[in-house]
Amino acid sequence: MRSLSYLLGSLSRYFPHSQSSSTPHLTFLLRSMATSTAAGPINPSNTRLGWIGTGVMGRSMCAHLINAGYSLTVFNRTLSKAQHLVDMGARLAQTPHDLAAQSDVVFSIVGYPSDVLQVLLDPVNGALSGLRPGGILVDMTTSEPSLAVEISTAASSKNCSSIDAPVSGGDRGAKNGTLAIFAGGDEAIVNRLNPIFTLMGKVNYMGPSGKGQFAKLANQITIASTMVGLVEGIIYAHKAGLNVASFLDAISTGAAGSKSLDLYGSRILKRDFDPGFFVNHFVKDLGICLKECQNMGLALPGLALAQQLYLSLKAHGEGNLGTQALILALERLNNATLGS
Ligand code: NAP
Repeated sequence: MRSLSYLLGSLSRYFPHSQSSSTPHLTFLLRSMATSTAAGPINPSNTRLGWIGTGVMGRSMCAHLINAGYSLTVFNRTLSKAQHLVDMGARLAQTPHDLAAQSDVVFSIVGYPSDVLQVLLDPVNGALSGLRPGGILVDMTTSEPSLAVEISTAASSKNCSSIDAPVSGGDRGAKNGTLAIFAGGDEAIVNRLNPIFTLMGKVNYMGPSGKGQFAKLANQITIASTMVGLVEGIIYAHKAGLNVASFLDAISTGAAGSKSLDLYGSRILKRDFDPGFFVNHFVKDLGICLKECQNMGLALPGLALAQQLYLSLKAHGEGNLGTQALILALERLNNATLGS
């Protein structure tokens, strides 16, 4: 299998557009074998990667793959946001279809479920339409579990596979390669992709298709009330006349310490509301959670409260701020300002 990988690497160097090369059948056969579970571990010489969505998260995650030596093609709606990766050596594709035609494994991390549907399943320009049998789609967007199942069914019908693999850990986790990754789908494929996931963080297998998204939504439910607790503690400390920076430092090593505090505490104090993690995306996530709760007949009042507070940020035109801007909603409720 090692010699197969070597041959494959050589072929892709000599015939980068193998669909139109004089050896399409041989290259296709080798690619299919390379991405099958029978092949050896995934590595830069046997697997070409594609990446759709080079925003806050995607650009950092993708950079780890390029730095590890993978041959990578990128696609993004706003081209300028992919330029840094092109400067690092990535190829630029004009459509997700074209990207997939040059890739064995296609990752996506876009904004909303409607974007996922468009970039993966559009019958003309979507990635699945360009992927060859044996190819793998890995959607890392926080999206709907039912859409993950739909993608998986569509991929199977083309003898491809799909994994839902949303992430947690914020822009810092993406930069540092320390994301928590929640994977749903065929466990053997998740294991096979592990060398790539390891470059971005730690993968956790959650079950069949859709379970990665369910795990991520449960993660968001946990964070929702944590964020409310964090900004309530801050505004209370401020009103009580405490030095808020000292207060946050003091609680950080106690039971109230949290990743949310680590990620956002000092940004709140500096009134740095740049995203990070967009309020608009959190409102999307909490909306999906509430819809799933409705389906399950589940009452989660902390989730509903957090969603209402975040919606109020959107109502004030603050949807493109980072989620730490929740402090603004609490300041307005209490006619108080922390000050800069
Ligand atoms: P982002 O900065 O908006 O990045 C999304 C990228 O995808 C953008 O560059 C966007 O293009 C591109 N895109 C969106 N729809 C597209 C489409 N239909 N066709 C082509 N490209 C498209 O958002 P992000 O912060 O990286 O978040 C991405 C996803 O990860 C979201 O689902 C979010 O909920 C989730 N997430 C984010 C964080 C975080 O801390 N940021 C953490 C965990 C999970 P444009 O440049 O043209 O807008």
